[in-house]
Amino acid sequence: MSLIDGRKTAEIIKNQLKVEIEEWVKSGHKKPHLAAVLVGDNVASRSYIRTKIKSCEEVGMASSFIHFDAQISEDQLLVEIDKLNSNPDIDGFIVQLPVPDHIDEHKIIQRIDPKKDVDGFHPVNLGKMMLGLPALLPATPYGILELLRHHNIETSGKHCVVLGRSNIVGTPVSILLSRKSDVGNCTVTLAHSRTKNLKEITLLADILIVALGIPEFVSPDMIKEDCVIIDVGINRKDDPTRKRGYRLVGDVDYEQVVDKASHITPVPGGVGPMTVTCLILNTFKTVKWNAGAE
Ligand code: NAD
Repeated sequence: MSLIDGRKTAEIIKNQLKVEIEEWVKSGHKKPHLAAVLVGDNVASRSYIRTKIKSCEEVGMASSFIHFDAQISEDQLLVEIDKLNSNPDIDGFIVQLPVPDHIDEHKIIQRIDPKKDVDGFHPVNLGKMMLGLPALLPATPYGILELLRHHNIETSGKHCVVLGRSNIVGTPVSILLSRKSDVGNCTVTLAHSRTKNLKEITLLADILIVALGIPEFVSPDMIKEDCVIIDVGINRKDDPTRKRGYRLVGDVDYEQVVDKASHITPVPGGVGPMTVTCLILNTFKTVKWNAGAE
């Protein structure tokens, strides 16, 4: 079994990016600037934003944290998004999801200027992605492709089974891997909560991507020998031996499947660090596109 180390891969990409950004700034451009918007006080969201801001610092990018009270109205939030869209100092921004229930997430995403949509959730970016045109790719699927690329995992002609059809992970990664492209050319099966005979399908997978949000759902009897496993899930599991009372586990029963897999991502330290890194990659990508540099 070979570990697909997301932390190490993320470090390699960030170190390269740091050099590129240094050169960019030396050649007279301003520092790329990412803003992160948080609405309300979701503890996990705050922690995700902290990690994103730390990553900006690591690569020499500017960052801003913009916090709104959970009571902000949808209309007010849309006005704030317009301000970020027209602020020339901000190159890209994200609105950390989930937003409170009274705010329509789709309206918010659609208001973001596609050129500043570094999460890659806007329909324009998703449409371009589908057509294989240059686009800001959704950060987690982008991170998964980079993990496969950096670990030289052959995808062409392989059967990839994706568990979960969310707009941010399952659906886009299934499209990306089926495209005629560098990391792609897979035959893809997208399974979801209504899929029947799931185990029969997962047993066919050369590459299994799991994005369900169900702790340790995938057991060894569900995978074939030497399968590549990408575990996207991040779940809390009670653990009284830990100071904080829980530990993070994926959607795959890591301990049980590890010996059967040819490659596997750990949780934490697998897909998570790559998601953040790809957000930063997207920010620099849009900076260069908008400057006509690429
Ligand atoms: P989601 O909740 O939006 O969607 C879950 C999907 O799982 C749905 O499409 C549903 O049809 C499917 N599903 C549910 N039960 C199923 C079953 N029994 N069999 C087959 N399919 C089933 O999920 P999401 O936003 O894609 O997130 C999934 C997990 O990935 C969560 O744990 C989330 O925290 C994590 N996540 C991690 C990262 C990262 O960077 N590592 C990024 C995004 C999400």
